[in-house]
Amino acid sequence: MTDQQIYSVLGVGFGPANLSLAVTLEELGWTGRSRFVERAGDFQWQDEQLIAGADIQNNPFRDLTMPRDTGSRYTFVNYLASQGRLTDYLHLNAKFPLRREYAGYLRWVADAFRGSVDYGESATRLSVVDSPAGEVFRLETGSGREYLGEKVVIGTGRSPRIPAVFQRSLGPSVFHATRYLSSMRRLNGRDLKVAVVGGSQSAIEIVLDLLNRPDVGQVVSVQRGIGFRLKDTSPYSRRVFLPEFIDYFYPLPSEAKQRIRAELRSINYAACDQDVIDRLASVQHEYELMGSDRLRMLTFSEVAEVTPHAGGAVNRLTVRDVNHGTLSAYDADVVILATGFRDFGLGPDDEHYHPLLEGVADRLALNDYGLPAVARDYSVPVRQSYGPRPLRLYLNGLCEASHGMGDAGALAVLSARSTDIVESLMLEPDVVPERDGGLPADGLVAGERLRDEALR
Ligand SMILES: Cc1cc2nc3c(=O)[nH]c(=O)nc-3n(C[C@H](O)[C@H](O)[C@H](O)COP(=O)(O)OP(=O)(O)OC[C@H]3O[C@@H](n4cnc5c(N)ncnc54)[C@H](O)[C@@H]3O)c2cc1C
Repeated sequence: MTDQQIYSVLGVGFGPANLSLAVTLEELGWTGRSRFVERAGDFQWQDEQLIAGADIQNNPFRDLTMPRDTGSRYTFVNYLASQGRLTDYLHLNAKFPLRREYAGYLRWVADAFRGSVDYGESATRLSVVDSPAGEVFRLETGSGREYLGEKVVIGTGRSPRIPAVFQRSLGPSVFHATRYLSSMRRLNGRDLKVAVVGGSQSAIEIVLDLLNRPDVGQVVSVQRGIGFRLKDTSPYSRRVFLPEFIDYFYPLPSEAKQRIRAELRSINYAACDQDVIDRLASVQHEYELMGSDRLRMLTFSEVAEVTPHAGGAVNRLTVRDVNHGTLSAYDADVVILATGFRDFGLGPDDEHYHPLLEGVADRLALNDYGLPAVARDYSVPVRQSYGPRPLRLYLNGLCEASHGMGDAGALAVLSARSTDIVESLMLEPDVVPERDGGLPADGLVAGERLRDEALR
């Protein structure tokens, strides 16, 4: 079914990134028609890991809108007040809100935009097609719907990272952390042995959660490093979440960007907050006092092979010590991959671009490395022959390589980034050639060529 109207803005995904965009479009007075498609049946925020007791890592004042407009009706503070919980929250004096509380805030804001979102629609293909008005984007979804739009904002988050060794075993008993709660609900069994792979915040939260489950007999944490490491929470390092850092980072040469990202890796990756590390260390100590091996730590270790064992009832993990090279075997009923998300880049595990860009890849401006050339306003220039207005494509939350660590999905940058995108969307449109009106040699319309030049 094709929705015949041509939207000015089509948003793909309605997580925090495009939710913040919807708020910003409204608050900056956008008058065009916008539509969002979201794969989930209703609004959710990482609900597969909505683990009891987990808190967020972000100052809640830095919410979807407050850094831009303290008077916005969509602030976290207004949410608390609207629920009659502001005083309770302030009284609690918590450093960060519970994830459950922040998810409630995001849902409360999302409810105000219900009329602009089609839930249960998974975008499967983006392309450029002819329409009576000229070239426009066409977005297709799994249910067979089609949407037309002049501007597309991709806010889907990144793809889960599944290390090659686990690819063939994926299923009900081997799954990524993004399927944690629903997969655990489907398991039947007692005295389950569960392996958790990875050293991230998600990994430690899952280990703690598993230890609270009566059906889990043993948890083994497998990680390449020495054990759960502390996140870099220095206010100096956390400058990466400031808009001025993005201005500093964006024009740097690619080698400098890679070096800075490697130096600051423990802000976001393979590192955990102090509170969960303290909690796990104390739980582990208690097990040791009791002579229990309910929690095992396989550190400096990586999974070299996964094979079905005991007639397929369990997964046999061959685990290699990364320093000595020695091998050992561990049988796990369940294997949970807290292995993070795929980057965009040229690394062996990286995606060159988001899979949805496949259908327009031959129209995108590329940088010297053959990757989509993302401009400072998060747009990627698109070649277009003619159309009602220039086609514009924006990446909302997928630009860590070009814009820095703050763009690795962090909540802290949402409001600033959506402001940048909406301000860019609201710029006067450039003139696009009429059909057969002659196409510039590079096929880019004027504004796009300017952005393209800025990248060289
Ligand atoms: C468990 C967990 C906890 C986190 N906690 C924090 C935190 O405390 N602080 C922080 O700063 N960051 C945190 N993060 C990082 C996280 O990336 C951000 O909080 C935030 O979710 C990013 O928002 P997003 O909209 O870019 O991506 P997402 O939240 O991933 O939202 C993307 C949305 O797009 C939808 N979608 C995907 N593909 C399609 C498609 N093809 N068609 C239609 N819809 C699609 C998805 O269903 C989803 O709803 C956390 C991440 C995880 C996994």
